[in-house]
Amino acid sequence: MKVKFYGATETVTGSKHMIVSETGYTILLDCGLYQGNGKESDEKNRHFDFVPEKIDAVILSHAHIDHSGNLPLLVKKGFLGSIYCTPATLEVVEFLLYDSAKIHENDIEFINKKRDKRGLPPLEPLYNSKDVDRCMKHFKTVPYNAQFHLDTSVSFMFTDAGHILGSAAIHLKLIGKHHRIVNLTFTGDVGRYNDMLLKSPSKFPQADYIISESTYGDRLHEEVPDAELHFLNIVRYTCLEKKGKLLIPAFSLGRTQEIVFMLDKLKNKNLLPDIKVYVDSPLSTDITNIMRNNVDLFNEKLQKYIKVDPDPFGFKNLKYIKTREESMALNELNEPCIIISASGMMDAGRIKHHLANNISNPKTTVLIVGYCSPNSLGGNIRNGQKEVKIFGDYFQVNADVEIIDSYSAHADYNELLKFLSCQDARLVKKVFLVHGEPDAKLSFKEKLNANGFQNVLIPQKGDVYEL
Ligand SMILES: [Zn+2]
Repeated sequence: MKVKFYGATETVTGSKHMIVSETGYTILLDCGLYQGNGKESDEKNRHFDFVPEKIDAVILSHAHIDHSGNLPLLVKKGFLGSIYCTPATLEVVEFLLYDSAKIHENDIEFINKKRDKRGLPPLEPLYNSKDVDRCMKHFKTVPYNAQFHLDTSVSFMFTDAGHILGSAAIHLKLIGKHHRIVNLTFTGDVGRYNDMLLKSPSKFPQADYIISESTYGDRLHEEVPDAELHFLNIVRYTCLEKKGKLLIPAFSLGRTQEIVFMLDKLKNKNLLPDIKVYVDSPLSTDITNIMRNNVDLFNEKLQKYIKVDPDPFGFKNLKYIKTREESMALNELNEPCIIISASGMMDAGRIKHHLANNISNPKTTVLIVGYCSPNSLGGNIRNGQKEVKIFGDYFQVNADVEIIDSYSAHADYNELLKFLSCQDARLVKKVFLVHGEPDAKLSFKEKLNANGFQNVLIPQKGDVYEL
């Protein structure tokens, strides 16, 4: 039995880990895209360091593109088996993969225009929506907490990881010669305790080996005493005092629904001013509908809330915008309002035209509620740049820029330790740290050692370990 590491080793993206049983049954845990760093990532995404045809099954921890985004290429390059995930992950990943294909198609169109001018031949997108059609046929769902047999030598179970809707930790049971049993857990991405919408990460059975994420292995999330009040003050200042627009760039999956839910709560408490709220992103609208159909996956607090208000993602004055025309019409709207739009890092999606149209107006406030990589448009605005480039033109940033950092879908190191505390550390033979920057992994390794996990390893791409 072996584990081989193919991605999310030196970086946080490109999650791909291979498990081979004693009979040779080969499983790929996640098949994520490398993100950021333009050309370098593109190169890594186009070439697998293994033969896709030789993989028997893929088990997907959750729908995020850095875990699922290269599945269409895996199928395109010859993978024939099934892709297993939870039912909610399947619903979400379908939208994310088609969205990802659209982004690749648009990007390549732009690149090919430039290449054409230089007399260079056109490039193919990493994959297109037809490839996603083919990929979707390979998916099979397995609910949480059910043991599923892949082969006589391998079975697995999903438990709730509390990270995004449908997210799971994967627990493999491998049976070797002389009935030797090896239990291996892959944490996937671990969520938070006391999430606004989701249940807390579940406890899981004792493992012999753990592949653990370590994104915030060196950080603690700030305790924000009253994010709701802070948020309400920003709404009041922008919409009542300045009579301007409040722009909230937000990821379509998770963050948008958290913001809408917070507004819904304020509305029910009669605290929200009488202003229009728009969710302007087709993907956010689709994902909100998936959430509405999966309320059983929400935490107890939200379940109770739903008994009083059946739709936590809808209220009078809130409108989900679908068409491009309706979206453009918001530019003409001359009244205070809140616009929640994707993408969260402001590099793509409809938020760009709202920023271009409003960022130079001092009546506007841009409220940043999520991580923005330093080189993104969101990163520039977050860092206080006074002039930013949008659609090739420069715009003065005269708008107020506010940041609320209390939202995160990732456990910090205390929460990761809490997640792993269901284990008897003495029985865990090895912990492999993936999905973290080098400093985060080193720091988390020390913390694990201090908590009794003795053999903590930081694998490099291509490393193989006997189990
Ligand atoms: Zn994730």
